[in-house]
Amino acid sequence: MTDLTRLGAAELAEKIHAREVSSVEVTQAHLDRIGAVDGTVNAFLHVAHESALSAAQAVDDALGAGDAPASALAGVPLGLKDILVTTDMPTTAASKILEGWVAPYDATLVTKLRAAGIPILGKTNMDEFAMGSSTENSAYGPTRNPWDTDRIPGGSGGGSAAALAAFEAPLSIGTDTGGSIRQPAACTSTVGVKPTYGTISRYGIIAAASSLDQAGPCARSVLDTALLHEVIAGYDPRDSTSIDTPVRPMVAAARAGATGDLKGVRVGIVKELYSDSYNSGVRGSFDAAVAQLTALGAEVVEVSCPSFEHAVAAYYLVMPSEVSSNLARFDSMRYGLRVKDDGNHSAQQVMMASRAAGFGDEVKRRIMIGTYALSAGYYDEYYGQALKVRALIAQDFAKAYEQADVLVSPTSPVTPWKLGEKLDDPLAMYLSDMCTLPTNLAGHCAISVPSGLSAEDGLPVGLQIMAPALADERLYRVGAAYEAARGELPTAAL
Ligand code: GLN
Repeated sequence: MTDLTRLGAAELAEKIHAREVSSVEVTQAHLDRIGAVDGTVNAFLHVAHESALSAAQAVDDALGAGDAPASALAGVPLGLKDILVTTDMPTTAASKILEGWVAPYDATLVTKLRAAGIPILGKTNMDEFAMGSSTENSAYGPTRNPWDTDRIPGGSGGGSAAALAAFEAPLSIGTDTGGSIRQPAACTSTVGVKPTYGTISRYGIIAAASSLDQAGPCARSVLDTALLHEVIAGYDPRDSTSIDTPVRPMVAAARAGATGDLKGVRVGIVKELYSDSYNSGVRGSFDAAVAQLTALGAEVVEVSCPSFEHAVAAYYLVMPSEVSSNLARFDSMRYGLRVKDDGNHSAQQVMMASRAAGFGDEVKRRIMIGTYALSAGYYDEYYGQALKVRALIAQDFAKAYEQADVLVSPTSPVTPWKLGEKLDDPLAMYLSDMCTLPTNLAGHCAISVPSGLSAEDGLPVGLQIMAPALADERLYRVGAAYEAARGELPTAAL
């Protein structure tokens, strides 16, 4: 019998809708796989056996009654990053401060998944409040990379990516504030998309940096990612930054890309996102990917975006500044961890002690950096400067997109490192985000597509394809064409 966990989402949906297999069987197979391997991978913080199976049963019942599938992915189960609030399972953002908390409402994205008949397998592990690039900042233990369990799966959405690579889920949802969907995708040889800012509702996503946060789809193929993207996209009046515009034709673009060439498509290599200092395996993989794009008929040019050099510095001021404000809500008064609540301490003492006990080191570091950067006297020097860089980055992108339809770079300058290797060196960790940050600062979109294994260390490498705001379909056309030309890749050994 076919192992259902090895099939992609599109194929599973086809079989479920044709009543060849049931959604309950597919969901159960993934729950069994989670039971078998997640003790090692730790991709899930919470597994929702009952609610996943009852959602699957509802899909099977509707199909049995002759109803049309609720969506192209009805019946195909998914892992949800634990930063999206859910009424039927806990939401912790991988923080102690929210241990055991159950939200009183569902995120808009979750409501869309439920309406689409997508069973939610559980909540996936992440860096606490989405701060990190390795998933080691989780209060509930790191996620391990299914390619090599001594290595990080990337972050902050390491759980969502590792679940795909370990065949625990065919689909997952991540959030990408500075790379947290794309970099884990690159580290695990899976596909991840950071959609255009404002096109996926942020309502019910615990805010890290509100001007950057964006949820997006993760899967093992470009088409599966497009299918999920169309399910979750759309205007939401409950999100003040939501854009009221039609959903882009992403599935059609993925299908066209998979069978077509790239004649007439201009691809720009961003000079500043490609350096001799990168892992040689990453460079080799990127060069080979560019050769494939050229062979597909794309016109490859080099573009320069000089301000990208300052993206890391700007991001790590803007991001913590917004964090310092957003995380002020965790004051232990209405929900969340509360310590020293013994009648002998003032409300302020309880708040201080609870925050000290509930937040991890990286979260505290960012709150301090952000508070400092926003303080009177330093505001212009730090936050103000960072905003100027942000504007320059948008200008550089605009110029580059006069010369090219999409831009490309490696997703990450390095392959997945050993657990613990960068924990004492936050700057080294931050620098690993250099290729993904510009897209977030500009509000644009980008995809990471696996580009094979590094010749240096045999570990996964990702190709990043970037496109301007509201041109998300370009990612899918180019991504699917590249994926088809590249061919099948090995899967993780686990
Ligand atoms: N690694 C980046 C950070 O630590 C990105 C995080 C994210 O996208 N959520 O902030």
